[in-house]
Amino acid sequence: MINVNDNFLKLPGSYLFTEIAHRVAAYKEANPQAPVIKMGIGDVTLPLPAASIMAMQKAISEMAHKESFRGYGPEQGYDFLREAIAAEYKQTGVDLAADEIFISDGSKSDCGNIGDIFSTNCKVALTDPVYPVYVDTNVMAGRAGELLPNGQWSNLVYMPVSAKNGFVPELPKEKVDLIYLCFPNNPTGTTLTKDQLKVFVDYAHKNGALILFDSAYEAFITEKDVPHSIFEIPEARDCAIEFRSFSKTAGFTGTRCGYTVIPHTVKAKGSDGQVVELNKLWLRRQCTKFNGTPYIVQRGAAAIYTPEGKQQVRQLIDYYMGNAKIIRESLLKAGFEVYGGVNGPYVWMATPNAQSSWDFFDYLLKEKNIVTTPGVGFGPSGEGFIRLSSLGSRENTIEAMGRF
Ligand code: PLP
Repeated sequence: MINVNDNFLKLPGSYLFTEIAHRVAAYKEANPQAPVIKMGIGDVTLPLPAASIMAMQKAISEMAHKESFRGYGPEQGYDFLREAIAAEYKQTGVDLAADEIFISDGSKSDCGNIGDIFSTNCKVALTDPVYPVYVDTNVMAGRAGELLPNGQWSNLVYMPVSAKNGFVPELPKEKVDLIYLCFPNNPTGTTLTKDQLKVFVDYAHKNGALILFDSAYEAFITEKDVPHSIFEIPEARDCAIEFRSFSKTAGFTGTRCGYTVIPHTVKAKGSDGQVVELNKLWLRRQCTKFNGTPYIVQRGAAAIYTPEGKQQVRQLIDYYMGNAKIIRESLLKAGFEVYGGVNGPYVWMATPNAQSSWDFFDYLLKEKNIVTTPGVGFGPSGEGFIRLSSLGSRENTIEAMGRF
């Protein structure tokens, strides 16, 4: 028998959402009539923008003719999409070349795969709670060490966020190499101001660290002083990579498209001391392991940058943020302790009477028929919280809030 990668054996039982799905399925089997409302997994519910649909229909027609048929595309994405994204960045004052943008099948893949290009010796820092993909992929790569009884991994450096620090992580106390930041945040729905984010950029500069900035939810920002991109801080061009996704922005969770930005100025070194552009390494990685996002999907994605597309995306986001407002205000009015929901589609709610996350999850499922996400699934500091998603329908959101 061959040996497996032992790191996989270190991963605890099941992925968070698999466990949730399992509990919901068991409850529904026993109670088939129960009017269960899903506010757990952050999946969208509204259809794709009409501009994307039309662009994809046109792309399908192109595939039907020998003259316009497309086979393998460029691994890093078609120029029409990379240029449209660069033009969009430019409008917010961020200058990027199209070849600093890599199109992918979504940012989960990118956030997970990016670790391929870093040494397994890199010390990793992340917030707690956190999007589990950052943790689990570092476990798989052997950077996380061992799982401790308190739910933390021995080699990861945790930056807890809570009401105590206003959900603003403190800088790592020890020197780290890679820092994962996700703002607007999943799961807490909170954000950083530009000044607060700059503290991390300055740290990365001073310590030769790299920030992996996940801005999957940037389209949901409503407040002025909140950066949409880490590259709004000019110094970040030397020390940050940014991940973005069409999933929540434009309903592409099932259609699959995202992108990663790696400026040519972001560099690191090999163990022999040679300095390399991370952009080149990622291109090499993608060309070897990835064969590109479908042409049809990239056409659909590019359509969100047309005037109609922009307007349609705005409508989608406004709808979801309308739900977020309802959730946030209803829960506050009912006396619960809640955070987020202003610049992101998630509301982070403290469980009443210090119940555990899973106990409150089970209570809401069984007594109120509402599916949430237990905060502890995002890390030990998420204990005592649940996450509510505003990406459902308005009717279900209102109905669920009534049940609270
Ligand atoms: N990053 C964060 C913080 C997310 O919450 C998600 C999805 O929930 C992703 C990335 C993945 O997005 P995609 O659908 O593009 O893979």
